[in-house]
Amino acid sequence: MATHDYDVVVIGAGIGGLYATHRLRNEFGLSVHGYERARDVGGVWLWNCYPGARVDMEAKDYAYRFSPELRQEWQWSELFPAQPEILSYLGHVADRFDLRRDFTFNTSVTSLIWDAGSAIWIVNTSDGNTTRARFIIAAPGSMSAPKQPEFPVTAATTIKTMKVRSQFVLLWGTFHQINVNKATHRNSTTSRQLPL
Ligand SMILES: Cc1cc2nc3c(=O)[nH]c(=O)nc-3n(C[C@H](O)[C@H](O)[C@H](O)COP(=O)(O)OP(=O)(O)OC[C@H]3O[C@@H](n4cnc5c(N)ncnc54)[C@H](O)[C@@H]3O)c2cc1C
Repeated sequence: MATHDYDVVVIGAGIGGLYATHRLRNEFGLSVHGYERARDVGGVWLWNCYPGARVDMEAKDYAYRFSPELRQEWQWSELFPAQPEILSYLGHVADRFDLRRDFTFNTSVTSLIWDAGSAIWIVNTSDGNTTRARFIIAAPGSMSAPKQPEFPVTAATTIKTMKVRSQFVLLWGTFHQINVNKATHRNSTTSRQLPL
């Protein structure tokens, strides 16, 4: 059987990937390494920093439950805190359980290959490296990548009376301007949070 670098490779340092790393390393004693495309932990709460972003369920219910000490020491300032507070919380969790040291940031997993003969995952990453692991925890989230509009840009240019702006909330600060007029297309919770 081929050797492996880690027992487990975790993809993503959002809520799911952080918990998996803690549980598998700190509680099960496995060797774990994580890859995160972003510069730090937080997942959607790092990516989505648009004005008005906040949790839409009570934070005490959104927070981790695995550690009574963590629940006691972290005090939420609001029932439904805004994005900076959720991100601070996740940073605190990463610090408290020393999770950052097992992540390589600014690095994407680009392919996973199952080597059946060796029963090993071959993990290729955007930094050109290859890592071998017995198990994969895929926690890439479902909302961590911006989706390009499927309609032609010219459709927006027919709305001549609207005075709005267009950009991906996921990449707040990076304007994606439409040439002539600008339009905002909203859906779900984010649409209610965004300021006009
Ligand atoms: C604005 C917003 C508000 C939300 N509010 C709520 C709420 O109130 N209640 C609720 O229950 N849920 C809410 N959600 C849903 C939210 O997605 C989940 O609650 C949860 O944060 C998802 O965590 P996750 O770890 O599964 O994924 P994510 O937080 O998406 O983290 C996945 C991470 O994986 C990384 N990644 C992805 N692919 C790769 C790759 N190939 N290589 C390396 N890294 C990769 C991404 O960069 C990302 O950081 C909200 C989502 C958004 C966007």
